[in-house]
Amino acid sequence: MDYREEMKQLRDTLNENARLYYTLDASTMSDYEYDRLYRRLQDLERQHPEEITPDSPTQRVGDQTLNDFAEVMHPVPLESLEDVFDGDEVRAFLQKVRETLPQAAYSVEPKVDGLSVALEYRNGVFYQGATRGNGRVGEDVTENLRTIRSIPKTLPEKLPRLIVRGEVYMARSVFEEINERLELEGKTLMANPRNAAAGSLRQKDPRICAQRRLDIAVFNLQLAEGRDFATHTESIAYLREQGFPTIPHALLSDADDILREIDRLGDTRMTFPFDIDGAVVKLNDLSDRDILGSTAKCPKWAVAYKYPPEQKATKLKNIVVQVGRTGVLTPKAELEPVRLAGTTVTYATLHNQDYITQKDIRIGDTVIVQKAGEIIPEIVEVVRQERPAGTKPYCLPTVCPVCGAPVARDADGAAIRCTGAECPAQLLRNLTHFAGRNAMDIDGLGPAVLQQLVEAGLVANAADLYDLSVQDMARLERMGEKSAQNAVNAIAKSKENDLWRLIYALGIRQVGEKAAKVIAAHFGSYDDFASASMEELVAIDDIGEVTAEYIRAWVNSPQSQDLMARLKAAGVNMVCKEERLDNRFAGMTFVLTGALERFTRDEAGEMIEKRGGKSSGSVSKKTTYVVAGENAGSKLRKAQELHIPVLTEEEFLDLLK
Ligand code: AMP
Repeated sequence: MDYREEMKQLRDTLNENARLYYTLDASTMSDYEYDRLYRRLQDLERQHPEEITPDSPTQRVGDQTLNDFAEVMHPVPLESLEDVFDGDEVRAFLQKVRETLPQAAYSVEPKVDGLSVALEYRNGVFYQGATRGNGRVGEDVTENLRTIRSIPKTLPEKLPRLIVRGEVYMARSVFEEINERLELEGKTLMANPRNAAAGSLRQKDPRICAQRRLDIAVFNLQLAEGRDFATHTESIAYLREQGFPTIPHALLSDADDILREIDRLGDTRMTFPFDIDGAVVKLNDLSDRDILGSTAKCPKWAVAYKYPPEQKATKLKNIVVQVGRTGVLTPKAELEPVRLAGTTVTYATLHNQDYITQKDIRIGDTVIVQKAGEIIPEIVEVVRQERPAGTKPYCLPTVCPVCGAPVARDADGAAIRCTGAECPAQLLRNLTHFAGRNAMDIDGLGPAVLQQLVEAGLVANAADLYDLSVQDMARLERMGEKSAQNAVNAIAKSKENDLWRLIYALGIRQVGEKAAKVIAAHFGSYDDFASASMEELVAIDDIGEVTAEYIRAWVNSPQSQDLMARLKAAGVNMVCKEERLDNRFAGMTFVLTGALERFTRDEAGEMIEKRGGKSSGSVSKKTTYVVAGENAGSKLRKAQELHIPVLTEEEFLDLLK
């Protein structure tokens, strides 16, 4: 490829990715890959400086902000760091510095993968905090930063003005906990702790940011009026005394020692509460830093070493399938244990069937695994030459490995799901949905309480909730007598709910709130709904064939029938309370066909339902009347064949009177 063409492609790819990364907190490539491409562009620009364009990512410090927050000027710029990718590049950097400063000492520290912010204190009080933005102007996120507990709000020493720089991050443990909760609630998961931290800090409502439990690690003193420090070490020690959590660092001079420390940090990265994406090597002496100065973007006195994702070959012993709380079957590769990025790896994620098929991953294969800072490693590729004889392409099971119910592939995605109504793997999620605000709306039965009820063996399906006593509830953690009583009252109250809530609460696939309301109004009782044929279901607007099939499968399963019988016995309301005029059409089924003059078919259907009847889309022996308007076609013929009485619009109106 022509170098001009390559440079253009690199600019486009990097710009698009940076835009996603900075403005939407989403990303399409790994940070490592981004840095590699960036470096390739830099090299080409060095060789062909005449080809540097103003839109090149190398000509900017950060990227544009979303402009939702007020701007804050940084009196001391928040600079970027020059990346290096191997030991030789670190040595080259050290050599370059040595030419000017033969005796230099360096701080070597983990590069926290979070979000850079500046915190300003006036007279010892937290005054303002801002994101890096483009390095000179950032976004005012003071209110969100106030919610971070590890940021001191007042300092022991009241300097007139103090600015520190730190990295806001979400601890890995918090990240996992929040994702677990999101999964329970059926919401989209956060991609990684960095995105999670960035997204949280940009929330318009500080209360949301507070729930995300962010942390900070401070790594630089930007400005301190009335204080002088000679070295980085001294300034960091001072900040620690002032109550800031600081990034730990080693003080070293020898190149070999520095490289060893970089390796050590890489090997122990999983022991830090935060993700790290590299190590930073920076001059310790602050006046030496001034001597070297900065380029347009980066200081010349520091570099960031980026860890490559470590890869190793190992054997895939088996593929095990887990069932998540949403019922999705997730295949996992069981590996011959292998040391990777400081931990022993025995499992790798396989995502889904498509992923396995695409890479043709088979049990018995030798595979290359990689860990790039994520918690779970992944399989990069299969070593084809080492495939033993007799292996077979892998297919996920056709029944749920937990409950044995058939599995079904999502109509709109790669996920394969268990269809079991009471699959233990899905129990907690189903219960959370059942009790949720838009479903049975049971106050005081959130995921945490439900989890305890399941773990204590008190609840194995939704019907069990109605057998709970105040004593049962009071045995749970953090549940006083009073809240136990309230919860039991709330459960009892939910028995009076209108039918649509119950139908929605059952969690039948594709039956959302709206469909549940339509169903409740149409059938008037759970029993009529449960005995409806495919044709009757499909005849309802909003219900397609796929949904109808899910409904039929659900209501016909013995587990569901059991559950409904118990709910009924517990006194849960099973009829539509929506106002009904009378019952004159009870047991009758109408079919509307042709063009009606005075009302639409939907309106006519509603009038029938309000009088206890049903309207259906197809004529059968069970049809009581066919109401035929202008140009009625096949349904009218069928009615005549089956000798079913046919009404004109007038005759139908007479029945309504
Ligand atoms: P980059 O964004 O790749 O240019 O890397 C520079 C960023 O690394 C800075 O914006 C800092 O916020 C961040 N960083 C994380 N840890 C450190 C550290 N220990 N020293 C300096 N910068 C750090």
